[in-house]
Parts: sequence; structure tokens; C-alpha cells
Amino acid sequence: MEEDKNLVYKDEALRLAQCAAALGEVPVGAVIVRLSDGQIIGRGYNTCEKGRSPLLHAEMTAIKEACAFLGGWRLEGTAMYVTLEPCTMCAGAVLNSRIDSVFYGTPDTGGRGAAHLLKNARCYEDERCAEVLKTFFGNRRIKMDRIKLVKAETDDQLKRTAALADEIWHEYFPSLIGSAQTDYMVNRFCTFEAEKENIRNEGYIYYIIKKGGEDIGYTAVKPDGERLFLSKLYLKAEHRGKGYSRQAVDMHREYARKNGLVSVWLTVNKGNFVAIRAYEGIGFKKTGSGVTDIGSGFVMDDHFYEIKA
Ligand SMILES: [Zn+2]
Repeated sequence: MEEDKNLVYKDEALRLAQCAAALGEVPVGAVIVRLSDGQIIGRGYNTCEKGRSPLLHAEMTAIKEACAFLGGWRLEGTAMYVTLEPCTMCAGAVLNSRIDSVFYGTPDTGGRGAAHLLKNARCYEDERCAEVLKTFFGNRRIKMDRIKLVKAETDDQLKRTAALADEIWHEYFPSLIGSAQTDYMVNRFCTFEAEKENIRNEGYIYYIIKKGGEDIGYTAVKPDGERLFLSKLYLKAEHRGKGYSRQAVDMHREYARKNGLVSVWLTVNKGNFVAIRAYEGIGFKKTGSGVTDIGSGFVMDDHFYEIKA
């Protein structure tokens, strides 16, 4: 009988989590139960996006509602059922509001769980609570914006890729290779004239990376024996870390496959840990390292990476 009653609370918390998911919020739901009569006196689901506030976790809203119901801030004699392990903020609110015990459906595998701060917290291991989160984040990934690679062929398009190079290189590389080398490399390899020469003499193909109508970066490749050399892949700062590099690499791999090439390879500065992590995340494997003299006393100290087409 007792177990059945608790199931009602667990189901209600889950239903609230699903409400959040339907609104595009991270799906977490919470209820607060008055132990004397088993009545639910507070409900909440995560509304951080809609409310534009990091405070609007399910637990916080449920606490607020329970306090309003009881007409005070002390929630002694109550229990909370929440679908996900509470974070530090919510654990703090539970302590401050004197809630007797917390039951949560699934541990926070993202490392933000703070159940250890609570004396009376227990996980009831409800698969459905983890599932609703997994589905939500899975769907979000699928809904990621798609980019397009538009081949840069006209002078106007190549001037745009040169302008993108100038902007991105000067924002990204000085901290890595210094301003002098950045200037040197932009002036030597990334100008409109240099691009024209690369295309004419070496078979480079340049693309503008577009999202919606916006130019968000550029990329360049050239067939190199039986492989495709990924010479350039640069995104404006605000468009990094959103999976666009992976999409661009996938498109290059597809191009390589269609043209009978076996792999895509690239060089990356040994100190460029952000890019290295991104490439390794995509599935590139390190094949070697090397130093290339690029003139005027500058060298490129690179790792080489490769991925199957
Ligand atoms: Zn929280």
C-alpha cells in the first residue's frame, strides 16, 4: 500500500518532467508531499529557458509552491520526489526549507549531483527518469542546425573567404603562435591572391561555411595522392563547439569517398589543444608529427591527423 502511494508521486514528478521536455526545457520534475496526509502541496518543472533564470529548477519551483500553500518557509513534515538528483543549489534550498527527505529517480551523471549534501536523500532508480533526459538530449542533437558548404569560385566569394580568414586568424592564433607569425601567415597564405594561386596551381577547393544566410567560416581541401588534404577549417568564435566542424568534416569525407580517395588528413599546431580535442572527438587519429619551415624564420610545429573517408 505504502509503495503504491509513492508510485503516484514518482509518476507525477515524471509527468512534470515530460511537461518540461514538451516546452524544450531540460526535463526534470519535482513534487513535495505533506507526510501527514499524503497530499501533494508543491509541483515544479524546470523552466530555466522560458524564465531566463538559472534559479528555475523543478525543485525550486516546487518549494516555492509548497511554501505558498503552507504560508511559511518551513517545510518540515514533507518529502520531495524529483526525477533527477538535485544540484548544489537545490540541495541547499532543501536544507534551508527543512524538507525531511528527498527521493530522486536517477543520479546526475553529468557531475552536478549534490545528493551527498543531504542527510536523507535516496535514489529510487526509475529508468524512466533517465530515459526522458536521454531522449531530450538525443532529440536536441538531431535538431542541431545544419551547415552548408558553398564552393567559393568567383572573385567575390574568394574575397569573402579571405576576409573570414583575416578575421578568424587574428582572433584565434595570436595567443597560440604570436602576432608576428599570425600576420605573416595571413599575408602569405590567406589573401585573395594566395587563394587564387592555391586553386590554380595546386588544385585547392575553397568553401564558405554557411548557416542559414550567414557566412560562419570557411574551409579548403585539396586532393593529395589517394588522400584528401584538409588544409583549412575555421569557424567564427560564436559558432564553435556546436558540431559544425564535424558536419564539415563529414562533407569532406563524403567528397573524398565519391572521388575514390581513402582518407582525409590534416595538420594541427601542437599547442592547439582545442582543435586537437575537437578532431579527436570527430574520430581523427594521430599519424605523426613534423616541423615545417614556412620562411622568414617561422616554422609550423604540427601533429598530423587522419580519418577514413
Ligand atoms: Zn537544481
